[in-house]
Amino acid sequence: MSPRISAPAITWPDLPALQQPPWPDAQELDRAVAELRVLPPLVFAGECDQLMQRLAAASVGQAFVLMGGDCAETFEANTADSIRARLQTVLQMSVILTYAASLPIVKVGRLAGQYFKPRSKPIEVRDGVEMTSYLGDAVNAIEFDAGLRRPDAQRLVRAYHASASALNLVRAFTQGGYADLRQVHAWNQDFVRESLAGQRYEAMAADIDRALSFMHACGANPDEFQRVEFYAAHEALSIDYERALTRIDSRTGLPYDVSGHFLWIGERTRQLDAAHVHFASQIRNPVGVKVGPTASPDEIVELAEILNPERIPGRLTLITRMGAGAVRDVLPGIVQKVDACGVPVVWICDPMHGNTREATTGHKTRLFDDVIDEVLGFFEVHRNLGTFPGGIHIELTGDDVTECVGGTGGVLEGNLGDRYETACDPRLNREQSLELAFLVADMLIKR
Ligand code: PEP
Ligand code: MN
Repeated sequence: MSPRISAPAITWPDLPALQQPPWPDAQELDRAVAELRVLPPLVFAGECDQLMQRLAAASVGQAFVLMGGDCAETFEANTADSIRARLQTVLQMSVILTYAASLPIVKVGRLAGQYFKPRSKPIEVRDGVEMTSYLGDAVNAIEFDAGLRRPDAQRLVRAYHASASALNLVRAFTQGGYADLRQVHAWNQDFVRESLAGQRYEAMAADIDRALSFMHACGANPDEFQRVEFYAAHEALSIDYERALTRIDSRTGLPYDVSGHFLWIGERTRQLDAAHVHFASQIRNPVGVKVGPTASPDEIVELAEILNPERIPGRLTLITRMGAGAVRDVLPGIVQKVDACGVPVVWICDPMHGNTREATTGHKTRLFDDVIDEVLGFFEVHRNLGTFPGGIHIELTGDDVTECVGGTGGVLEGNLGDRYETACDPRLNREQSLELAFLVADMLIKR
């Protein structure tokens, strides 16, 4: 492949940026940034352009986006088994959605870069001891230890390398035969196979097998059945990391953030006049913004004008995360105003971040029923307004964890302590993820 992306030659204005780590040593940071600036791109501009086209289809109801993965990736879980399990979950969900709704599913992992976390409190206090909060593995360690909680800029470089190895494995899995549709049964192994959702999946996979055998007998074996397009996304939170990985594409002379195909701006950093939105406005990747229940319609219209002034379909995704209790009241006003302003957007529902609560056990959790109810509300609002529900954004894992309550697998509050493994927010386990996919497939059919 020709090296189309050259070293960066971009100057950035000095704008306020919220949620940046309190780096204790400016020279350490400069050294890490200098290293990052000359490392090879993780993704190519042409891939980002292709994703933009797929998102454009989702903006007009001709495709549906499935974005999923960890709240916070960790270096410890950057293993073949863990990455494969997450990929398997997304592939299984995607097959469920494609088969039921006969719609192309745009598959995007919250992975290979999701190493930075915004926090509501910059300082964590335990038994009177204060430390910098955990800000993601790219900044400090989760252990409550003064030395390990010190932001260490070399971790930025480590996050880059961890992302490179994860993406390498994802590319091998998705292009090298593992994602072949004839493997649909193979993705349904281990604990999930015996679950209700796993059995339902197995029946569907048998139907798909029969259809494939029929087509094969007719002489059709298209390339599309043997590979899948899979894209990597993360929150563009660390201004230093993302700027260092922004390069000028030598083909077009335009800047791309080569740390991931799709970057989003979080709910806490979407101020119109600050560094994150400015950064997103400069790069040519498709970008997203989280939109919570306190957002005003006017502010989101302004954001849409800033981030998509050329009105390019697929360029801007609004990831709404209102909470099950608010989605039906708050979302219509925003959708109406944005739709009327004429900037095309992809509407995606994140039914996780507006539905976080504390369990009686003290765990941060989410109720499966709230997650489903928010997606239902999202579909209702778009149906009423004649706009398109373009996708879902889910925190999930491939493992049998007990972090969210509910689902037919019956995770109860009392079970939360059994396998509560997340480094940040509670994720759906594999069975809950498949169950969600079947429910969303029904909503897509009735859309
Ligand atoms: C997240 O996606 O993990 C997150 C922090 O979301 P939000 O910005 O919507 O709160
Ligand atoms: Mn989260």
